[in-house]
Amino acid sequence: MLKFEEMPLSDEIIRAVADMGFEEATPIQAQSIEIIMSGRDVIGQSQTGTGKTAAFGIACIEKIDEDDKHLQAVILCPTRELAIQVCEEIRRILKYKDNIKVLPVYGGQPIDRQISVLRRGVQIIIGTPGRVMDHIERRTLRMDTVKMVILDEADEMLDMGFRDDIETILGKVPDERQIVLFSATMPSEILELTRKYQRQPEYIKVVRKELTVPNIEQVYFDVSERTKLEALCRVIDMYNPELSLIFCNTKKRVDELVEQLQGRGYFAEGLHGDLKQIQRDTVMKKFRNRTLEILVATDVAARGIDVDDIEIVFNYDLPQDAEYYVHRIGRTGRAGRNGKACTFIVGREIYKLRDIISYTKAKVVNQKLPTLSDIEQVKANNFSEEIKKTISEGHLSKYVAMVDNMISEDFSTIDIAAALIKMHLYDENSTDIDFDKFARKDYERGSGGKRPEKYEKKKKGRGEYNDENMVRLFINVGNKHKIKAKDVVGALAGETGIAGNLIGAIEIMDDFTFVDVPKDCVKEILSGMKNKKLKGNKVNVEQAQTAKKDKDKKKKKYFE
Ligand code: ADP
Ligand code: MG
Repeated sequence: MLKFEEMPLSDEIIRAVADMGFEEATPIQAQSIEIIMSGRDVIGQSQTGTGKTAAFGIACIEKIDEDDKHLQAVILCPTRELAIQVCEEIRRILKYKDNIKVLPVYGGQPIDRQISVLRRGVQIIIGTPGRVMDHIERRTLRMDTVKMVILDEADEMLDMGFRDDIETILGKVPDERQIVLFSATMPSEILELTRKYQRQPEYIKVVRKELTVPNIEQVYFDVSERTKLEALCRVIDMYNPELSLIFCNTKKRVDELVEQLQGRGYFAEGLHGDLKQIQRDTVMKKFRNRTLEILVATDVAARGIDVDDIEIVFNYDLPQDAEYYVHRIGRTGRAGRNGKACTFIVGREIYKLRDIISYTKAKVVNQKLPTLSDIEQVKANNFSEEIKKTISEGHLSKYVAMVDNMISEDFSTIDIAAALIKMHLYDENSTDIDFDKFARKDYERGSGGKRPEKYEKKKKGRGEYNDENMVRLFINVGNKHKIKAKDVVGALAGETGIAGNLIGAIEIMDDFTFVDVPKDCVKEILSGMKNKKLKGNKVNVEQAQTAKKDKDKKKKKYFE
């Protein structure tokens, strides 16, 4: 293995890379950095997560002439999300080099601001082909000083229809330029592109010998299509991960599962190729800042996502091939953290899983699904911890007075405490399922977890509803009652049958909560929520009196 110190790199970069915690170069880095630095055209092929960004990032930075303030390198990425990630990584590598300026340029960002930064002199830009083309056409970017063009995730860019833009951009750079292309796969379209624009490129392909990602506990559960959803929810409840990623094999499956999870009150959203860039950005932003706990994605959509602390990866659908399996589970356990991968197996899929196991030498063990009492136990433990914490935080005198009152009515403290715990933990909807029975007898009925489907036709993603059709409701519980948005969604969906994703903005204040719901559902909700409890608190739901302007402002705040 090659250490960065052993490469002919500048001190500043060696120090920055050490700060980033990189101990040695990954194979694609070891094989490509020096060749790129030599000025040759390069085609680099290796799987996701193998460090391609630093490979071209380091080489690119070493080729930049710090005294020349003109644009010298252009890095093209398929999406805004990736452009930002690449830019962040390059800025980390530039930590000790102050004289190199980089700028990400992508759609959706005010172009004026980009233009003014560009005027001040930027040597490297990282952008999506569309926005780079924009700047070229506006003449705010001139390609005639560019010495190097890097195409990151070239296969993905072609898939997304950027071929013409890429060719136009390549056509504008001077003849004396270097073109470096990185891709996870090499379809013929890419080979055509390289034949047309690269000169005797060096082709570097890294095949992973060791396919399995270490440090990840891998388990599988036997389920049937019909019980899969319930099984997934149980495992989620059992481990209660802060961030988890669920893989489905198709876009349709992603949409279905997101809807079902939202209907059950989970904070889940989907990511797949049919979403507009702006929707993908919104989802990713929520996932990063943890307003979103569960991301449901297809393999392609999840490619390139770089979120480090995903606790559990779920294979809701068993992936088609072993490499996908490895890529998927590699999303957890990053940066030396512990991770867990859970795979759901229906019937004969077990043979496919065995193939994957033998190919990757992965250790995937069968695990029994948690029973309801297992989950109750976990919830009870968590709740006792919460109680202990609340006691240690103090400020209880107001409540002590209430307890005193009750004691004077002849209730014992122990009964009062027990009743409170019951109110918090008891879930009247929970009924146990005999998973084994279902696993043996595989029902053909498609997905489980039936929910009333009354409003499903008008489905829209959360937060993309039409203003006119939404009404704001007031609920008399809030932060003080430990209410989370998912509790609100869960209660409304569970008690009234309105699909979870129809519920709009939720704003939780200390004492109360605002939630936006479709106008047509208000009646149902008001009557359905009558005499119901949320986390043990009797709730009162009514139409809010907020002025519309105010309401819009609040909503905006929630979604930004
Ligand atoms: P790719 O573009 O090949 O999918 P990335 O460049 O996104 O992969 O890298 C994946 C992750 O690995 C990132 O978190 C990155 O910081 C990290 N990484 C890259 N190179 C190294 C290295 N030499 N040692 C340790 N981690 C690395
Ligand atoms: Mg990459």
